[in-house]
Amino acid sequence: MAQINENYLKLPGSYLFSTIAKKVAEFQEKNPEREVIKMGIGDVTRPLVPAVIEAMHKAVDEMGTAEGFRGYGPEQGYDFLRNKIVENDYKGLGIEPDEIFVSDGAKSDCGNIGDIFGTDNKVAVCDPVYPVYVDTNAMAGRAGDFINEKWSDLYYMPCTAENGFMPEIPKEKVDMIYLCFPNNPTGETLTKEQLKLWVDYARENESVILFDSAYEAFITEQDVPHSIYEIDGAKEVAIEFRSFSKTAGFTGTRCAYTVVPKDLKVNGTSLNQLWNRRQCTKFNGVPYIIQRAAEAVYTEEGRKQIKENIDYYLENAKIIRESLEKAGLEVYGGINSPYVWAKTPNGINSWDFFDKLLTEAGVVTTPGSGFGPSGEGYIRFTAFSTRENTEKAMEKIAGIL
Ligand SMILES: *Cc1c(COP(=O)(O)O)cnc(C)c1O
Repeated sequence: MAQINENYLKLPGSYLFSTIAKKVAEFQEKNPEREVIKMGIGDVTRPLVPAVIEAMHKAVDEMGTAEGFRGYGPEQGYDFLRNKIVENDYKGLGIEPDEIFVSDGAKSDCGNIGDIFGTDNKVAVCDPVYPVYVDTNAMAGRAGDFINEKWSDLYYMPCTAENGFMPEIPKEKVDMIYLCFPNNPTGETLTKEQLKLWVDYARENESVILFDSAYEAFITEQDVPHSIYEIDGAKEVAIEFRSFSKTAGFTGTRCAYTVVPKDLKVNGTSLNQLWNRRQCTKFNGVPYIIQRAAEAVYTEEGRKQIKENIDYYLENAKIIRESLEKAGLEVYGGINSPYVWAKTPNGINSWDFFDKLLTEAGVVTTPGSGFGPSGEGYIRFTAFSTRENTEKAMEKIAGIL
């Protein structure tokens, strides 16, 4: 008789965003005349920039010619893209093209990276957290059992207003540490000095840091690291995930990359080689057309155009921050990130505040508790809406608070 992976049965029922979608659908069904503005799920709204579209068209035409046609590409990505990534995103940091693995998404990479790690590793996650790190470790059997809203074997690092949203260095030994800065959902970041404490911890304890840098393009402040490799010694202890999704609007187009330095060894084994082996076996590369589109992000026009979109979202974030503050809420994030993390008023819980914003203001947010127990009492706003909807949503919220 076939057996299933029993770990899947331990996962708690409904995924956060499907619960939200259900609540919104019910509200709309009961109130068909009411307008609903979505500031919940983290998806972009600005179209792909002209430089990207042009490159994509050109690549499509190439594919229709005998000389330009491409079949299977390299599993790790085409050299033209890996070289551009190294020259631009890792300038001066000593990262080499064969340390870059182009992929169809940072979500898949963050989830799949567990393939090359033992199931007995102790895993540390921030709380609140991007659910992918937690659920994929649960699927792999590294999380234990889900009891009272927590996985028994995970090491949770609370990130709240009280500690400035900075995870505390573990008092016990942990083996795999997921860090995401600028953070989803809190929108807060670490300084270089703060990140260095983590690199030092990982070096002392022979742990590996899985650094999700999906939002680095939103960094506006000087002392915030864009890459963990800006910290001395990080190449020996860290894997970094980046994505064109939020940077260049590729959420539907799909392109990302993971950096696995050759200096990174676990017990003498090169993780670069293991990840290469894993990708060659289970992945057949990102489409040529999409990699050409991603390459165009690094042209002069491409850069300028994507920066305009990022500035647009950051301006939305500023509007959200200022409006919520004016309405009397305590707000965080939104300066180096497209997320604003607000404390609920009068200590009401995240879902109650979510319901209030939905039913009274017609605004969809994400309840903080959906990202982990320490997210309770917070709510997340995304800056990815249109300017018009952002302003309208803020007016409506001001009217009910
Ligand atoms: C959006 C997001 C990503 C990007 O995922 P893709 O699969 O590349 O679209 C990665 N990490 C975090 C924390 C995110 O919010």
